[in-house]
Formats: sequence, structure tokens, C-alpha cells
Amino acid sequence: MREIHHFIDGKSYSPKADRHGDVYNPNTGEVQARVSFGGADVVDKAVAGAIKGQREWAAMNPQRRARVLFKFKDLVEQEMDELAHLLSSEHGKVLADSRGDVIRGLEVIEFACGVPHLMKGEYTESAGTGIDVYSMRQPLGVVAGISPFNFPAMIPMWFMGMALSTGNAMILKPSEKDPSVPVRLAELWMEAGLPEGVLQVVHGDKEAVDALLTHDAIKAVSFVGSSDIAHYIARTCTEQGKRFQAMGGAKNHGIIMPDADMDQVVNDFLGAAYGSAGERCMALPVAVPVGQKTADEFVARMTEEAQKLRVGVSTDADAHYGPVVSAAHRAKVEDYITMGEKEGAKMLLDGRGFKLQGHENGFFIGPTLFDHVTPDMQSYQDEIFGPVLQVVRAKDLEEAAHLPSDHQYGNGVAIFTRNGLAAREFAAKVQVGMVGINVPIPVPVAYHSFGGWKRSAFTDTNQYGTEGIRFFTKIKTVTQRWPTGDIGDQAFVIPTMQ
Ligand code: NAD
Repeated sequence: MREIHHFIDGKSYSPKADRHGDVYNPNTGEVQARVSFGGADVVDKAVAGAIKGQREWAAMNPQRRARVLFKFKDLVEQEMDELAHLLSSEHGKVLADSRGDVIRGLEVIEFACGVPHLMKGEYTESAGTGIDVYSMRQPLGVVAGISPFNFPAMIPMWFMGMALSTGNAMILKPSEKDPSVPVRLAELWMEAGLPEGVLQVVHGDKEAVDALLTHDAIKAVSFVGSSDIAHYIARTCTEQGKRFQAMGGAKNHGIIMPDADMDQVVNDFLGAAYGSAGERCMALPVAVPVGQKTADEFVARMTEEAQKLRVGVSTDADAHYGPVVSAAHRAKVEDYITMGEKEGAKMLLDGRGFKLQGHENGFFIGPTLFDHVTPDMQSYQDEIFGPVLQVVRAKDLEEAAHLPSDHQYGNGVAIFTRNGLAAREFAAKVQVGMVGINVPIPVPVAYHSFGGWKRSAFTDTNQYGTEGIRFFTKIKTVTQRWPTGDIGDQAFVIPTMQ
């Protein structure tokens, strides 16, 4: 059995662990590896090494740090195929999608290569007589990143790009479900010239997370995962006096106006609702057609097209999507399908009990489609995170627009229309953090920033972009005066600029 170890101070670290997790191959349903679970002792060791490494790294000028990032990008590109295979074998997404997972992460590294410019401070000459004021951005020190299973390359690289380029050391706690790619990325960072200790990988579950959240030397925590855990991270970090970002779950709506290009809409929903087996926080699992004619046409065409989707193993180049990540997750998604049926939604396609010939033990779910879903249904209110599309019919744009705005989640939303004015007003008013106009998955490019609203993000700063630079740095402002020999009056009142 392959063992997956922590990665500390530039090498694999495998203390005698009494707790482990199983890592599955979702295509076969077999356990393919065992990952060590760390606790406070492993976190202590990782932090001690990180404190040392961070001093050296932060002292390096930003241009030299950027060169390490350039080299890392080069190495990841050279190893793209191997990384995609490793990723697919633990996550289950198809190879082309795994490459996308790596590439979207690399785009944040590309942005972070501009860190010498991004960290520049501000300067005011003669703010008072003989007084200059300047501010600088400095790294926080040792920080932690805690990532979910669904983007095991992209999300760790969001954290790495922002935290490392700005001169911090990071302890990454990747998802225990697919932990191999983050370890391989850490090895590539070493090869690229990152000093030992600057990126540590500690595996584990709640115990490792709690050790990170309560460690005095860890100054900030960037978390991406489900909302209840995100809220827990936010509460604990607040108590502990730590800076945090905590991104949560989602239930993204796609509003289809009567004037939309229906060919495009159907095509976009197929990819956005079922791609990656629906396990994307920016998936589009709710369709809101406006008006009966739009709804009838959309539902008829989706029913026809979705049943043609090819569900296959990750290495099948013709498969549209692969298995979900675990048997437990498959059971959870199937329970939601049962719930939707019981709640009275009209089931048009039922993916429960799907068996792929030759891979009967894989964690596959067929494409599922519900019509006449209503906002009071629990299966609508919760995030399902599987290949399940729910259609909620609306009579007009006003009713449609209320749905995403009133929902507990507010990560992404899309509107499909040819009416620019309607789209513009919708984008301005909707209570959701990321909006697509005829774009089904509006994940912002690396030089903007990523973040939802409401229970999709407990944070003030978004991931990556200049928001990410802000999160991983603190500002110091210096007010300076050089003595001229002319000693003024003693001042017992606060100086003002009058
Ligand atoms: P998860 O919340 O189960 O796990 C995320 C991380 O938290 C993992 O590293 C895990 O080990 C850790 N964790 C799990 N239980 C914990 C506990 N009780 N205490 C402390 N730490 C704990 O999420 P997941 O299932 O890995 O990922 C899917 C979820 O992530 C979905 O809800 C999805 O919408 C969300 N997600 C959100 C974004 C976003 O940017 N908003 C992006 C990707 C995924």
C-alpha cells in the first residue's frame, strides 16, 4: 500500500502515526493509498521549520522571489501530464478537467510573478514641514492554507501564489481525500529554489486543522471548503486573534431569459451542471427559465441532451465526467435525489444506482434532472454537489432574480440574455459575489479576485488578485523627519496638519 507522508523542511516526514486516512481511486472504488494524519506535534514541527525558512525567504528581494515562481511555473508545465493523471486518480475528474485544475492554479502563480510591483508601498513627500510619510507592505510571517478536495491543484496554488510571493511561509493542510498533488507541488517548489521550511504540507483532519487554528505562531488562515466548516474557521480565528479568509459552499443559479440563445444555454448547462460530476463550487446546479415557453423548451432539450452524456473513468478521453470522490459522497448525493423526489419535484432523469460496465464498484452517478423544483424544498436550499440539475420556473425576471438573492449561498450566478440593459441591472442588483452574463462559470481571472457573498464566504478579502496580496501582507506606515537643529516649541497637544 502506497503511503502518503507529510512534507516538512524540504523532505518527506513520516513519524509513527496512529491515525491514517484511506485514499480511494473513485474509478474503481479501491483504496489505493494511506495518508498519515498529523496532530499538534506535527504542526509544531512544521511551524518551527517554517519560522526559520520564512526569515530567509522574506529577506530575499521580491524580484528574486519572483524568479522562484517563474521556475516553479516552468516545472509544473513540464510535469502537466503526470500531475493530471495523479489528480484524476484520486479525485475522479476526467484528465482534461484535471489539466484545467492545474492551469487555473498556474494562472495565479503567473499573476504572483508580478509581486515586486504588487508589494510596492506608498509615499508622500512633505506631509508636514520636513516630514515625509511612507507605507510598506510586509509579510505576516507563518500562515496556513486549508483546502477542499474538489480542486486539489488550483486552490493550493491560489494560496501558494499569494502567500509565498509576498514573503510568508505557509503550512498547507490539503484535503485528506486527494492529498498527493499538493505534496508533488511542494516537491516542485523545492526544485524551483524555495528555501526549506517555506512550504510545509501537513496532512490530517479536524485534529490537524485545530492545531493550526490555535497555534500562536500562525498569523493568518486561508480556508476553502464547506460553509459550516468555513464558519467554524471564521469563529475560531476571530477568538484566536488571527486574520482569516473562509470560503464556503454554493448553490449557483442560471437565469434563462426568453431572448437567450437556447443552443448556447443548453450547451453551457450541460458542462456547468454535470462537468466534474457537479463537484465545483462554481457549478450551475439550478436553472431558472423565465416564462413557460422558455421553460418547456429548455427542459425538453436538456432531458434529451443530458441523457446522452457519457459517464466514464477519468482516463476515458470521450467521457464528459467521471465518478464522485467517495462512496459516502455518492450516498449523500443519492439521498438528495430521493429527497427531491419525495418533496414533489418532477424527476426527468434519475442517476441513482448508475453502474459503469467493468467498473461496477466505482463511485459513479448518472446525470439527474428535476423540473418544477420550488424554493421551499430542502433539496433546493442545500448544496448537493453532484451531477444534479434542478429547474425552478419563474414567471418574470423579477421573480427569477429574487431566487439567487434570497438564497443562503451567494457564490456565483449567471444570466443568459441578449438584452444588455436587463443583464446590466441584474448584475448591479443581485446579492451574489460573482456574476456571469452569458458565461456559465464566471470564475474571475487571476488578476481580479474570487469570492462569494452570504454563506459562501466568511471574509472581508477575496482570494487572489490584489485582494490576495492585501490579505497576506500587513501595512506599516512611517512618518519621518530629519533633524535640522531647529528645536520647536514643546507640544503637549496632538500634532495636526493645520
Ligand atoms: P470540507 O469542508 O469537508 O473540507 C475542507 C477542508 O476542511 C479539508 O481540508 C478538511 O480536511 C477540513 N475539514 C473537514 N471537516 C473539518 C472539521 N470538522 N473541522 C476542521 N476542518 C475540517 O469540504 P470538501 O468536501 O473538501 O469540499 C467541498 C466543499 O467546498 C463544497 O461545499 C464546495 O462548495 C466548497 N468549495 C468552495 C469554494 C469557494 O471558493 N467558495 C471552492 C471550492 C470548494
